[in-house]
Amino acid sequence: MTKVIDWLNQNKKLLFSLEITPPDRGKSMDDILSGIDPLMHFEPQFINVTYHQPHMVYEEKDNVITRRPRRKKPGTVGICSAIKNRFQVEPVPHLICGSFNRYETEDTLIDLHFLGIKNLLALRGDPPPGQARYIPEKNGHQYASQLVEQIAQLNRGKYLDELEDPFPTNFCIGVAAYPEKHFESPNLQKDLFYLKNKVDMGAEYIITQMFFDFEIYKHFVEKARDMGIHVPIIPGLKPLVSKKQLFDIPSTFHVNIPVELVNLIEESRTPEQAFTQGVRYMARLAEQLITYGVPGLHVFTMGYGRSTLALLEMVFGKKP
Ligand code: FAD
Repeated sequence: MTKVIDWLNQNKKLLFSLEITPPDRGKSMDDILSGIDPLMHFEPQFINVTYHQPHMVYEEKDNVITRRPRRKKPGTVGICSAIKNRFQVEPVPHLICGSFNRYETEDTLIDLHFLGIKNLLALRGDPPPGQARYIPEKNGHQYASQLVEQIAQLNRGKYLDELEDPFPTNFCIGVAAYPEKHFESPNLQKDLFYLKNKVDMGAEYIITQMFFDFEIYKHFVEKARDMGIHVPIIPGLKPLVSKKQLFDIPSTFHVNIPVELVNLIEESRTPEQAFTQGVRYMARLAEQLITYGVPGLHVFTMGYGRSTLALLEMVFGKKP
């Protein structure tokens, strides 16, 4: 089954997907792929690959300062193709608004369609490092809902220019959501209002930002349903396994870490103990979510294949 939404509609089994990040420019993709090799035992149905905006690099030569965009992590589309070949698993490239104008987005969609890609996660994108606010390209999209609309239009055969007998694409569109609200949003209600907009534009399912408290997910799903959002909401999970991550995760992802988890990590006497406590905590959360009846689990690996493997072994049992 190649589309996420078909899988969700037709399978009674829990969907399980992984998210990986391309390597830094100049690094081999083999490390990333061999990092997820051991996770393949757990038979993920989909592997998402993140996309990263370029940041501006300033260079001075002969007293002239020039500015040029530089992408730290290129290769999303290439890795998607490698995943298909190496693991025979459907890749889900992330497509962002940032750094694309509408015409470049259309060209990218055509490339992805020709490559046989059937699923996309449509996002606005994070501002590049060193830039506080998101700034769209000229003639680009300000919000992910506009990107969703453009993809949905292409699925209907509507290109930006009028074409004779245009061929429609056939993408299944997912979007992101934030159980603790997006950090720029004044409140959860307003954020949900715009989330509904993405669904109305054509998003077929939602993947959430990571969270560390079951009640936060449950409350979010209830509020989303009240708002009239009825598509599947797949929880995003990330084991927090070190003292460093106690600071890095909240500051990067704007999420709350419950007292219980903070205590477990802070009171750990060794990094190995913190690792085990963090994975155990996340496994308990995953089990609560499964009991609640979530449509799937989406695990952010972020290059930390080891904590993902430990989590999966705890939740689904050790594989030979
Ligand atoms: P949007 O849905 O556009 O929302 C952004 C903000 O604008 C929100 O506060 C929303 O409430 C508000 N808003 C929306 N519409 C309107 C409107 N019409 N008027 C006023 N306000 C509005 N980032 C990357 O760069 N690359 C990735 O690969 C990537 N993958 C991700 C995967 C997941 C599962 C998640 C949860 C996030 C991911 N991100 C990624 C991060 C994401 O790009 C950022 O969180 C970004 O800041 C918001 O993206 P969005 O698609 O949710 O934006």
